[in-house]
Order: sequence, then structure tokens, then C-alpha cells
Amino acid sequence: MPPKIAFDNSYARLPERFAAQVAPVAFPAPKQIELNRELAESLQLDSEWLASAEGAEFLAGQVIAEGSEPIAAAYAGHQFGNFVPQLGDGRAILLGEVLDRRGQRFDIQIKGGGRTPFSRMGDGRAALGPVLREYLVSEFMAAAGVPTTRALAALTTGEPVVREQVLPGAALVRVASSHVRVGTFQYFAARQDTEALKTLADHILWRHYPAAAQADAPYRALLDSVIAAQADLIARWLLIGFIHGVMNTDNMSVAGETIDYGPCAFMDTYDPATVYSSIDQFGRYAYGNQPNIGLWNLTRFAETLLPLLNENEEQAIADAQEALDKFQPAFLEAYRGGMMRKLGITAPRQGDAEFANELLTRLHENQVDFTLFFRRLGAAIEPDSDQEQVRSLFVDPTVADALLDSWRRRIAEDPQRTEDRKKAMDAVNPAYIPRNHRIEEVIRAAVDQEDFTPFHKLLAVLSRPFDDQPDAARYGTPPLEHERVRATFC
Ligand code: AMP
Ligand code: MG
Ligand code: MG
Repeated sequence: MPPKIAFDNSYARLPERFAAQVAPVAFPAPKQIELNRELAESLQLDSEWLASAEGAEFLAGQVIAEGSEPIAAAYAGHQFGNFVPQLGDGRAILLGEVLDRRGQRFDIQIKGGGRTPFSRMGDGRAALGPVLREYLVSEFMAAAGVPTTRALAALTTGEPVVREQVLPGAALVRVASSHVRVGTFQYFAARQDTEALKTLADHILWRHYPAAAQADAPYRALLDSVIAAQADLIARWLLIGFIHGVMNTDNMSVAGETIDYGPCAFMDTYDPATVYSSIDQFGRYAYGNQPNIGLWNLTRFAETLLPLLNENEEQAIADAQEALDKFQPAFLEAYRGGMMRKLGITAPRQGDAEFANELLTRLHENQVDFTLFFRRLGAAIEPDSDQEQVRSLFVDPTVADALLDSWRRRIAEDPQRTEDRKKAMDAVNPAYIPRNHRIEEVIRAAVDQEDFTPFHKLLAVLSRPFDDQPDAARYGTPPLEHERVRATFC
């Protein structure tokens, strides 16, 4: 019988000290919750087989498919600013890599697959709630066009896991362009293992940045590329109201994808200081602080590359600084460009950035729902349209009147037909986001009643976030006071 999956495991072929060989744990009663058939097919996987009993066993890590070489990768990282020289995949097991139809390489990894040599005090397991949250949020991000890891499958393990309380165990099979993090580079830098650093940098150049690999100074081009990718990614997070929650350097992908969905959340009312993560006591990873932290993390990344940038340390530092100086302008350009699209402005001009800032200040003061404001703005282009939908979002509706007035005057001078403008705005301003109270509702039904219907419903809505879905109104609205979620846990 030919192998069911055409694995090609480039990371497993790297030197031994990059990863540990592991075997996923045997679960008492693995049961599939969801299989992402579309993603499976795009990865040239046989979704019929994955849905079969044997395929499900594979996804649960219960049988090792031919060609799979399960490993746990080594990495380090700054957690809330403190450097930990050894973290590593403590509960994630890389089954192997596959190529999609276009030849793009992807990791298939089980999160919650059991203990590894990097588990430290952890149990190597995942609880059902966070698995469902990651599934919903990562698939929403993909549907919204934000670079992200994907969810291939979710399953319950039949094994209870102990957190603050006893919870049903689960596992998520996720797909990523790679799982190499800033922390992976830090792992080798901390050991002054320049040879491994070079091997890792070459691997990433080959895998993610082939154009940079051809540059005169490939490692500088690598640094430039990662900085550009992260500036763009974080701008996209802000434009969609996403708060990662744990932007430790071990949770920042060098491929520029959103990874490691833990206590992440979406902002309802606009406030740059918004924090949901129960472990982020000082707001280090608050919504509006994400660009600053991004640069802080990238600075740690640049430090690891110094020995590769130039033999002369001073020159290397100057090089790194020059690269890092491009983060802020790149972020601002991406963010401002995105904000103009959200506002339906196709030909930005002087004064628009100031208008956008002023608008955000008013949203903040008036506790306006970030998502609904922009979505409803698209329906309020014409002066005779129903303004109440926008006005009712404001504590003081007269503020909305003034904003709508200036906005309409501005777009009247922008070359686009109303109909096209509304379409373009609807394509960037989602009607639905994974609102925290809806996610909690889904988790409660699954954990308390083993009822996955709410999960499937919400997933279906979030996979088409820009389409008005007449029977999905309850997923589009912000929480009532008693529904408000104040903290998220991972
Ligand atoms: P995170 O905050 O999820 O990015 O995880 C930070 C580190 O803790 C990583 O090395 C994880 O592999 C490890 N870790 C998190 N949860 C567990 C767990 N339940 N068992 C073992 N290791 C874990
Ligand atoms: Mg992590
Ligand atoms: Mg994690």
C-alpha cells in the first residue's frame, strides 16, 4: 500500500540538537470534533481517509503514518520580558511536513499530544476550551485574510486534564508554514552556537524567503524580511481588533503568521488599553501596545543574528539598527493604508491620517463597538441613509452626526461610486468576529453538556466574516453587560 501522506520532513533532517524525537501519547478514547476537509484537500491530503477511523487515529497521534517523524522542537524565549533559555515544544508534536498543490510547505502538528523532553512541569495536554478557541479564532483569521496557522482537526481525547478545575482533554491538529519562532533563534544564540544559528537562518531563507536568499547579504535580507512580515501582520491585527495576548518571543513566528493562540481575544468597544489575558497583569500585551512589543521582540531577533550580519560587531549592530528602524514606518504604512480602506477612502491625501486618529479618539470616548462601527459606516454613505445604526453605537449620538458629516464630505471628493465603495468597505470590515462572549458560550456548551452544535454554528458563521448572514444576527452584536467576558485563560 502506498503511504497515505507524502511527508517531506525538512526540519527533522536538521542537526540533532534542533529537536527531540518523540512519540505521541495514547489517548483512552479519541473522538473527532471537527475536520477541516477544505484545508486537508488543499494540502493534498485525502479527506475521506482523514475522516475514516484510521485517519482519525493518525490525527490523534495514535498511529504513526508512514513517513511521519514525530519531533518536538527546541526553542527559548522571553516570557513577559524575562529570558528563559529553554522552553521548546512541551505539548506540541510535529508529525511532519507536506506540500500543498502549489508546492508550498506546511507543518502538521498536534497540540496537546502528550509530554515531551521540553514539558518541564507541564502535562503535555490541552483542555477542550482553548482547543475550541484556537480552532475558531485561527479559522476566522484565515477567512479574514490575516496570515495565520490553520486548524486541520480538533478532537477530544477521553482523558480529563487538571487545570484550576478538572476539564475534558482535547487536541488540536494545526498547520503552519513553519513553527520556527524568534525564540528558536534565541535558543542557539544563548548557547553561542553560531553554526546552528547559520543552519537555522539558511533553513528559514530557503523555506520562507527565497528572494532574500539570493540577496548580496542574505542574513540582513532575512532580518529585513521578518521585520516587514511582522510589521504587516501586527497592522492587520490592529485593523481587525485582535489582541494576541501572549506576544512572548517564543510565540512570534519568523514566517510572519499569527501563532500560539492562547488567551487571545477580540476587542468589542474601542480602547487601545484593552487586555483580556488573565496572565497579563500589567497590560504589556494590550491591544495598542502590540506594535511596540513587536519591535521589542524583533530587536531580540536582530540580536541573535549579529554574528551572521558582520564579523565586525560594531558594523553588525549598525546593520541591525538600520533594519529595525524600518519597522515603525512599515507598520504605520500598513496600518494607515488599512485604515483608509476601512474608511472607504481609495485615494488618501493630506489630513486623512489625522481624521482617522480623531475618529478613533471619538470611538474610544463614546465606547463604540469597533467592528460594528466600521461595518455600519458602509451602509451610511448616502446622507439620506439610516444614520441611527451608527448613532446608536455612541454614548453621545451627536458625536456620530459630526463624524458622519466630515466623513461624507471627505468621501464625496474621493473617486469611487457609492455602490463600489460599500462593496470595498464590506470586504475589509467584517460583520462577524469571534466575540469573546460567543466563544465562552460555545466552550460552556461543549464542556458542560458535550454539545458541539454551538461550536459548529459559530465556525460556519466565522468562516464567512464579510457576508451578511441573515440568521446569524446574534453573532454580530456586542455583549450585553452581563455577557461581557473580562478575562480569558489558556
Ligand atoms: P505558551 O505560553 O502556550 O506559548 O507556552 C509556553 C511554554 O510552555 C512552551 O514551551 C509550551 O510548550 C509550554 N507549555 C504550555 N502548556 C504546557 C503543558 N500543558 N504541558 C507542557 N508544556 C506546556
Ligand atoms: Mg508558545
Ligand atoms: Mg501556547
